[in-house]
Amino acid sequence: TQRTLVLLKPDAVRRGLIGEIVGRIERKAGWTITALELRTLDQETLEQHYGEHKGRPFYEPLLEFMSSGPVVALVAEGERVIEGVRALAGPTDPIAAAPGSIRGDFGTITRENLIHASDSEESAERELKLFFPGLS
Ligand code: ATP
Repeated sequence: TQRTLVLLKPDAVRRGLIGEIVGRIERKAGWTITALELRTLDQETLEQHYGEHKGRPFYEPLLEFMSSGPVVALVAEGERVIEGVRALAGPTDPIAAAPGSIRGDFGTITRENLIHASDSEESAERELKLFFPGLS
């Protein structure tokens, strides 16, 4: 069974969509939320998290946005949860995301696309360590 790191971005929290988004993850059969916390991310954590995008034009505004308010960081566990949460989220650009997906239902702006979810087992391992270092 897999674990993944999910962030509900500051736009999701500001807009009162925590329950809506967490509910969609929670309702998938057999998946469990095993950690969950509201927190404001510091620059160092964000630089480590988004290191692969350093130098891209959207990098600085992305870090600014991601530290503009609290996020919900959570760990979800279950059968194929890594690809599963990404499927619930939909593609990066919310306008391209199908209705029924989180980004498709609630987003319009690529930067403010509501949710982050680990994209592979390797990323999940790295991101879980970064956001929940105390977890076994
Ligand atoms: P993952 O982070 O797992 O690769 P993702 O869908 O979040 O998937 P990335 O390409 O990694 O997409 O980009 C990270 C985040 O940076 C996006 O979720 C989005 O918030 C922001 N972003 C990506 N591309 C753009 C862009 N062209 N303009 C503005 N913001 C962007």
